[in-house]
Amino acid sequence: MKIIAGIDIGNATTETAVAGTEYGKVEFLASGIASTTGIKGTSDNIKGVFNSLAKALKAAGLTEKDLDEIRINEAAPVIGDVAMETITETIITESTMIGHNPSTPGGLGVVSGITVLLSDIAKAEQGTAHVVVVPDDISFEDAADAINSFAEMMDIKAAIVQSDDGVLIDNRLNKPIPIVDEVSLIDKVPLGMMCAVEVAAPGGVVEVLSNPYGIATMFGLDPEETRQIVPIARALIGNRSAVVIKTPEGDVKERRIPAGIIEISGSRNKVTVDVDEGSDKIMQAIDLAGDMQDASGESGTNAGGMLDKVKLVMAQLTGQSIREIKIQDILAVDTFTPQKVRGGLANEYSEENAVGIAAMVKADKLQMEKIAEELTEKIGVPVKVGGVEADMAIRGALTTPGTDKPLAIIDMGAGSTDASIITDDRRITSIHLAGAGNMVTLLIKSELGLRDFETAEDIKKYPLAKVESLFHIRHEDGTVQFFDKPLDSKLFARVVILKDGNMIPLEGEHNSIEKIRLVRKNAKQKVFVTNALRALSRVSPTGNVRDIPFVVLVGGSALDFEVPQLVTDGLSQYKIVSGRANVRGAEGPRNAVATGLVLAMSEEDGK
Ligand code: ADP
Ligand code: MG
Repeated sequence: MKIIAGIDIGNATTETAVAGTEYGKVEFLASGIASTTGIKGTSDNIKGVFNSLAKALKAAGLTEKDLDEIRINEAAPVIGDVAMETITETIITESTMIGHNPSTPGGLGVVSGITVLLSDIAKAEQGTAHVVVVPDDISFEDAADAINSFAEMMDIKAAIVQSDDGVLIDNRLNKPIPIVDEVSLIDKVPLGMMCAVEVAAPGGVVEVLSNPYGIATMFGLDPEETRQIVPIARALIGNRSAVVIKTPEGDVKERRIPAGIIEISGSRNKVTVDVDEGSDKIMQAIDLAGDMQDASGESGTNAGGMLDKVKLVMAQLTGQSIREIKIQDILAVDTFTPQKVRGGLANEYSEENAVGIAAMVKADKLQMEKIAEELTEKIGVPVKVGGVEADMAIRGALTTPGTDKPLAIIDMGAGSTDASIITDDRRITSIHLAGAGNMVTLLIKSELGLRDFETAEDIKKYPLAKVESLFHIRHEDGTVQFFDKPLDSKLFARVVILKDGNMIPLEGEHNSIEKIRLVRKNAKQKVFVTNALRALSRVSPTGNVRDIPFVVLVGGSALDFEVPQLVTDGLSQYKIVSGRANVRGAEGPRNAVATGLVLAMSEEDGK
């Protein structure tokens, strides 16, 4: 009996299958999995190959010496990368809005009045409603005393406070009023102007000032003025407290940032499209162009920067010149990202529109031969480059119980979504598309304003819960779980990720469980459902996805707890049966390519 190994070097993961084979019969012995080291298709991969192989051999009770032959994948000559550009920007040219989530606002409700410095309240007009402005050189005790003593004489509706003493002032007032605190640039608050203040109850969000018609009602705006304050209302959505001040020259603009033009050269046409127009238009342009030969962005614009960055990264990683790098596919999606409002007074954030792009470039295919040669030298076992990755994946996928030809697979990895189809007469067609797991993670990261990729990756992979007391949590599906021992007090009232039996608390109060869930699901939908349909329509013999009866999902992203359902759902509208693979009835959606490599080897051996 010969001992053989198939090794699949992916963008993210290196997977191994070890088997014994004799007379074309094959018996799988063990599998191994390790992170890919370095960029796929470079000699940096060798370390990851050793790790993955070592795990499989150990599980099989074998050593490298027992191996007769190794096959590595003829890597799909594509590498993916992702980029994002913001295409709108909110600018306040005159201070007119404060919307933020101070941790300690005071009072409750929505009121309006004329802004006046607390120290000037004695001189203010009686009988007029006022909102007092309290710089931090006034202590909370003095502020509370002053508001209390003037409460009889003057109509004080609300307070805007520079320090974070909202609650301390509030506690000392005879008659509570809404208080917005932590307004750092308080000297920029215009005085003698009409001002509306809203503070929501704990756990709530402002409802009047985040609604254009609410603002219009407070200030008696006409339709044209109402149209102009839409960006303010939008920027205030989701805040616990907000202030809007009407100044004669005040202006908040939503500006569209000229993002630039992308030019796509395809087999049919050369098409240009303005990134500002959003992802649908970009995807239509890509369709119109035919098979993509290259894409470039107008130089000096964000679009140019975005595509150049992808090409530069790929050029550096593969040691080619930037001119040799050709973009082969693009997936564009509409997204949004919280950005600091320019000209804001209290670090206000606004959700700006953005376009996310996953791009895929052709990589140098000869590199796999080099890796095979190096490996042969190091291990002393013949290492060959086996069949095309997509063909191998389909062979591996066909070991899923209940599958048969004709069959299509969708391989959902980190950088690309690949699809292939095998017909009754064993003809295989395949395609590689930009956009997969990394794109989903990027969307989650930017939409939730997270600092690091790892947190976003965890949010993608694991369910959430809210720690409601030290003895119970509420899972995102609403079920409650109790604990005998108290949880770590640091977790109290936090949204946590349930990862491998641990609870990882998330930073940031803006992100409720509902919002994170929505962002997470939408990101998966936008990337994987879109790409599943795009991929299948390209490999379908008729060009129509409806003519594909069965689809099996493989790859790391098919392990996702939501993606397979979303894709199954999306495809069921086209009467396609789809589901997650179970390679060799044991491996789930993993190890398809490695398994296929072993099967191909043993078939040759049997001839
Ligand atoms: P490649 O073939 O490109 O190496 P893989 O098939 O290993 O890629 O898939 C890697 C992708 O799968 C990554 O984007 C990773 O985040 C994702 N992934 C891995 N495990 C899970 C999981 N349990 N749930 C969701 N996504 C996962
Ligand atoms: Mg793969």
